[in-house]
Amino acid sequence: MRLRNVRGSREAIAESEYTINLPAEYKGRWKELFGNDNPIRIEIGMGKGKFITELAVNHPDINYIGIEKYSSVLIRAVEKRKELDIKNLFFIRMDAVEICDVFDKEEIDRIYLNFSDPWPKDRHAKRRLTSRQFFSRYNEILKTGGIVEFKTDNRPLFDFSMEEIPETDFNVLAYTYNLHGEKDKRLFEGNVTTEYEEKFVIMGNPICKLVAGRKSENTIN
Ligand code: SAM
Repeated sequence: MRLRNVRGSREAIAESEYTINLPAEYKGRWKELFGNDNPIRIEIGMGKGKFITELAVNHPDINYIGIEKYSSVLIRAVEKRKELDIKNLFFIRMDAVEICDVFDKEEIDRIYLNFSDPWPKDRHAKRRLTSRQFFSRYNEILKTGGIVEFKTDNRPLFDFSMEEIPETDFNVLAYTYNLHGEKDKRLFEGNVTTEYEEKFVIMGNPICKLVAGRKSENTIN
């Protein structure tokens, strides 16, 4: 993705009350930040934050943390967040490769991956957010019954994910190659679109979605 540098975004994020600057300090204690025991769901690579912000507004009884590595994008979510009177949404600027330093075992209820960067070269496969390396990190932090949801219009990335996930401690529990077209009830129900999804749907690209859960559990909570 080509990024326009937004001047001052890094500083504005560091000063914002909605971004956590030293997230590792909250490892095992995120519920203290939210002040409740509600489930915590994260989106990795949240971009400008439309999806996670809408979820947070619609579900005040669930806590959300958006993770994004670039300040120039994250700043847009932080700006929108200021206008909302909600208590269940925070952001972290970091590379998700570090998530196990930030979240403890069983701390996360659900992980959302939306329109993740494809990293098309084979030698970069481990950077894909649906690689076995990332799923082994998700295994560390997801609670029992926790799931990973992934949406993309990128068919090669989706095909890779469908083959990769069974090689990990997870299985694909449900999937579709045309989320909006088939309107598969279970997968489409309550669908909240992301910025990229809106663009691709207008362009007519089919959107693929899968839900993954641990092989040992095989349930969707
Ligand atoms: N999820 C948004 C959507 O669907 O509109 C944005 C999609 S955009 C193609 C992918 C985003 O993921 C980018 O903003 C990128 O910076 C972020 N990203 C990619 N790899 C990441 C990583 N390892 N850690 C954190 N953010 C990442």
